[in-house]
Amino acid sequence: MRVSELLIPTLRETPAEAEIASHKLLLRAGFIRKTAAGIYTYLPLGMRVLRKIMNIIREEMDRQGGQEMLMPVMQPAELWLESGRWHVYGPELMRFKDRHNRDFCLGPTHEEVITALMRGEIKSYKQLPQLLYHIGNKYRDERRPRFGLMRGREFIMKDLYSFDRDEEGLDKSYQKMYEAYTNVFKRCGLTFRPVEADSGAIGGSTTHEFMVLAESGEATILYCDSCDYAANVEKVSVPAAGADPNAEKLEIKEVSTPGAHTVEQVAEFLDVEPHQIIKTLIYKTDQETVAALVRGDREINEVKLYNALNCLSLELADAKTVEQVSGAPVGYAGPVNLKGIRIIADPEVAQMTNAVTGANKGDAHFINVNPGRDFKIDMVEDIRLVAAGEKCPKCDGRLLEAKGIEVGQIFKLGDKYSKVLKAHFLDEDGREKPIIMGCYGIGVGRTMAAAVEQNHDENGIIWPVNIAPYHVVVIPINVKDEEQFKAAENIYNKMVENGIEAVIDDRKERPGVKFKDADLIGYPLRVVVGKKATEENVVEVYNRRTGETVNINTEDVLNTVQKLLFARA
Ligand code: ATP
Ligand code: MG
Repeated sequence: MRVSELLIPTLRETPAEAEIASHKLLLRAGFIRKTAAGIYTYLPLGMRVLRKIMNIIREEMDRQGGQEMLMPVMQPAELWLESGRWHVYGPELMRFKDRHNRDFCLGPTHEEVITALMRGEIKSYKQLPQLLYHIGNKYRDERRPRFGLMRGREFIMKDLYSFDRDEEGLDKSYQKMYEAYTNVFKRCGLTFRPVEADSGAIGGSTTHEFMVLAESGEATILYCDSCDYAANVEKVSVPAAGADPNAEKLEIKEVSTPGAHTVEQVAEFLDVEPHQIIKTLIYKTDQETVAALVRGDREINEVKLYNALNCLSLELADAKTVEQVSGAPVGYAGPVNLKGIRIIADPEVAQMTNAVTGANKGDAHFINVNPGRDFKIDMVEDIRLVAAGEKCPKCDGRLLEAKGIEVGQIFKLGDKYSKVLKAHFLDEDGREKPIIMGCYGIGVGRTMAAAVEQNHDENGIIWPVNIAPYHVVVIPINVKDEEQFKAAENIYNKMVENGIEAVIDDRKERPGVKFKDADLIGYPLRVVVGKKATEENVVEVYNRRTGETVNINTEDVLNTVQKLLFARA
């Protein structure tokens, strides 16, 4: 292809809305354009990368026995009412009505559609297992669409669903997908880590997220400095240290703490350590208002709290609600004499002696509060966020922290969807059983953005060869020099004939402009054809990743390019 004929609209300036490298560079290098908030168009270069990632995914899914199909984006509300998720999914679900006033949504995921399909198709254990996948658009009205392709409202996902007779079959399917995902992300040139994760709204038991390690990642991972433990911070659980059996319980006392309403202020005012304070947070769920207690030096893990309360929605209560339930302004709520709402406490809180809490009264706290004696805990549940520096839950090592981009997640669903949607089969023993399912997603656009996050420098993108839009750009220095241009064209033709994906930058631009664009776009190799090509039969081959330039005889260019691109390290 001739660059002069391609739509590669590079930008000199960084668009103001872009915060992170991948978003900036994909816009600047002409891979994507914004159509609306969280909605993007893939330009031709972007589409080439996308297609490569999709093909890698296809190959790896097929290798494990996956069968590609295509399911509709438009989904009838009935299916979602049947599964119970019509009301659970909340405002993220894009809902609309057709001309007959029937409710529909744009699929944010496809468990409902595929489970309903399979209940009609699978009758007997002889038809199992099945691995079915599709690659298509998903719709989620995200609260904060941002970072370009990373968090869109319309995005492309590969989702595979596994159907097995029993848990043992599911374990095998899960293992296959774990392997497939590892291969996909390796082949995409990513440095990633599978981590244990929370199963969230999708439900189910075991789940892993595939995290691309990057500073710009929205997820926090904790991993051990000595064993191979790694998990999303949402999931990490460390047992409480245990109560001090010798501590003498002192008499509870109200003290005045004017103006002190944060943990730090109270600690300083009363000259205690934050870990001696009980932090009381009032939350609202779809069902109730609750008080959640963690030690003053800890933070609440809302995912754990959400799971513990088994609710559909969870948010911090507004100031008005806090005042209503505690009778005090925000910052002074405490569990002692707190009436009418459930108290859920972290195990660490349950073990405290002589703690400090808010007194449900402005400018006042209690000291020497003892759980059990001074207030009743309705539920003791791990609801705290574990932090870097704490002990590994699996060994004696310490936990370290890293940021990650979740590019894929795999789940064991069990019978969660097949039960409610009645997707049953007849087993060998003649008994009707629910199909045992798993689901497995990869964000295709997010993977592309993550690849840029990990592979760029100040000049632009450095595509991993397997997903580069083109392998090579051939740059004639002086397109007006007919002989030189001919030499460049010969090299270009020879590469194309031999299966190298090349473009020739035939634009009447200064070489500097072409080099800048080449760096920005991130072609793995650049072949520069200048004076030496006609005088000495020599061209320059520049490696975008290493920054190395080698002078090569024109005859050897193809060979060199092939080696540089495809030689296994
Ligand atoms: P997140 O926690 O980042 O919102 P999720 O856990 O809700 O993602 P899944 O339901 O597991 O996402 O979807 C499978 C994959 O789809 C994710 O691993 C991610 O790569 C991708 N994905 C999810 N939401 C988006 C989005 N809004 N934009 C782009 N990709 C997304
Ligand atoms: Mg996920």
